[in-house]
Amino acid sequence: MRYKLERAVAIRAAIKATALCRDVQAGIKSAERITKADSSPVTVADFGSQAIVNLEIKEAFPDDQIMAEEDSSALRSSERLRFEVVSRVCRFIKDISEDEVLTAIDYGKFTGCSRGRYWAVDPIDGTKGFLRGEQYAVAIGLIENGKVVVGVLGCPNLALDFMDESSEKGSLLVAVQDQGAYMRAYTSEREREIRVSRVKDPAKARFTESYESAHSSHHRSARIAELLAIKKAPLRMDSQCKYAVVARGEVTIYLRLSVRADYQEKVWDHAAGSIIVQEAGGMITDSNGRALDFSAGRQLSNNQSIIATNGAIHEAVLAALIKTAASG
Ligand code: AMP
Ligand code: MG
Repeated sequence: MRYKLERAVAIRAAIKATALCRDVQAGIKSAERITKADSSPVTVADFGSQAIVNLEIKEAFPDDQIMAEEDSSALRSSERLRFEVVSRVCRFIKDISEDEVLTAIDYGKFTGCSRGRYWAVDPIDGTKGFLRGEQYAVAIGLIENGKVVVGVLGCPNLALDFMDESSEKGSLLVAVQDQGAYMRAYTSEREREIRVSRVKDPAKARFTESYESAHSSHHRSARIAELLAIKKAPLRMDSQCKYAVVARGEVTIYLRLSVRADYQEKVWDHAAGSIIVQEAGGMITDSNGRALDFSAGRQLSNNQSIIATNGAIHEAVLAALIKTAASG
């Protein structure tokens, strides 16, 4: 099976990094939730998670490049933050030195390529959700010749069954190109294949979007919903967990509608999630119906706005989106 080792390494890295994130999230005091100071919990967990994921990748694939969200400059200039991050990482990797932690974080400086392969890492996607004690994800993707070939999403707070509140919290999703999409719990290695929803009538679809209206236009999505006669309220949540609920068929559409013309989506915010939706039978494009281009650097500079669906209703959603653009 192609990418067997890559798949296993990405799963292991996501599980290890999640342990650190859960540890930090559990210790967040309410006062810290509202600030995002230099050594805020999210900052500590971001750096710690990135160090762990990068170390796992480099151990298995020393020659691979990594594009990750953070770099160590803030740590190098703050002794307090450095100390907090290194002591957190030490709980999970014994005897690691301060220098090794900083070096590991900086493995993530790769700026991208259109040929060959690189890893895309978001150590904590959905930092606002993390601070609110809600959804966040550890996202790891492998990109080859501009296309995602492996994706893993560690979603520590995402119930195995979104509609059943009593179901176990913590979902790991994984997909490899042409091998389907799977989900497992953190507590068991047993995987089950996942598929997107079978909804064919857009009016019966439910959509998901960012909790933060600064990340995706709630106003425009409401107009699209109106055009498609969608009655169900949107499911608003942080992070790539949105891709997870589309891939599992719990919602049918994920809309990410650009709020600022000058904002460009980041590779690590979409690499893992996009392959998981595609391998679950779904479709993902930008607002022009084009595939996402992971060969343009650290940003998806050739794409604006992102729409993921179960495939069956993709054209209808795109058509509605274009209508809302025409009406301003
Ligand atoms: P979400 O949790 O889906 O709302 O997205 C979280 C991600 O949004 C973060 O990882 C940021 O990289 C990204 N982000 C930050 N600013 C913006 C923006 N203006 N538009 C879209 N995404 C953004
Ligand atoms: Mg992110």
